[in-house]
Amino acid sequence: MLSSGISELIQELKTRGARRVALQFPEGLKRKAARYAAGLREAGFDVMVSGDPCYGACDLALDTLADADVLVHVGHTPVDNRDRVIFIPYSVDFDVTILEKALPLLKEKTVSLVTTVQHVHLVPAMEEFLRSRGIDTRVAEGKGRTPCRGQVLGCSFSAAKDAGADEILYVGTGLFHPIGIALSTKKRVVALDPLSGICSEVSGETLLRRRFAIIEKAKAAKNTAIILSTKSGQARKELAEGLAALSPGAVIVTMQEVSPDELTNLGFGCYVNTACPRLAYDDQVRFPVPVLSPQEFEIVCGKRRWDDYTVDEIP
Ligand code: SF4
Repeated sequence: MLSSGISELIQELKTRGARRVALQFPEGLKRKAARYAAGLREAGFDVMVSGDPCYGACDLALDTLADADVLVHVGHTPVDNRDRVIFIPYSVDFDVTILEKALPLLKEKTVSLVTTVQHVHLVPAMEEFLRSRGIDTRVAEGKGRTPCRGQVLGCSFSAAKDAGADEILYVGTGLFHPIGIALSTKKRVVALDPLSGICSEVSGETLLRRRFAIIEKAKAAKNTAIILSTKSGQARKELAEGLAALSPGAVIVTMQEVSPDELTNLGFGCYVNTACPRLAYDDQVRFPVPVLSPQEFEIVCGKRRWDDYTVDEIP
């Protein structure tokens, strides 16, 4: 379930009859752990905090939950159904009139509005603002890994596609999401950082050129490992097995954390990443050898044409 604040959370925990509560925070919110733990202890709960790295709701602290009645995961919306997990998304506000900065860049007839979980609570206000400026705005309903209206994740851009508009306005920080959206939808994407007000049209061309070079390098690798994540919402076993079947020498390697040191120690000439899709795209510079997406490995194996390149997403 989704909860919005600590008093609502305490009520929900009492309704569930929970006594022992596990807390989990992503890296940017870990400093809130002490405050949450104190609040829950004062309300009479036993509290444990997971100190392991966490980057998404795909990485639930199930080991910590094994010793607790309920896991409270702060910062994200659920990517799958879990009875004993309560999700508390973290909201970041801004003045929606900042969208004025995007107006000169919007050129098509209809616009799909998408954003990240931190700002989904502002989707109705952003929609209203855009419509008040004469923009025919479409927002897709939430589904699957992105349960909120207009929400995108680094591994799911379906909200950008499902709205069926001519171009996409991404409101959020960073360039990974809008580049992913551009590659996934093949549509024009305008990205607005609502905190800095910087707005620009985004293209996937530079990333594509980089990925082409990595695919060429991977073709010379002597052996290949298919990375299968052991994280709760990243384990794509069927996909990993299908990819291993494409190349006679490929071996599946299970991993919790995919780090440059671990890949170096394993010593394969090329890795195919079925864990978080961002790893291959965002972190390649840190890795000692090519780390391909599943679709890129299909290109290496002759199962997919370069013209059919698409970005990896988790349905
Ligand atoms: S798989 Fe990656 S992009 Fe998707 S929710 Fe997890 S951390 Fe985020």
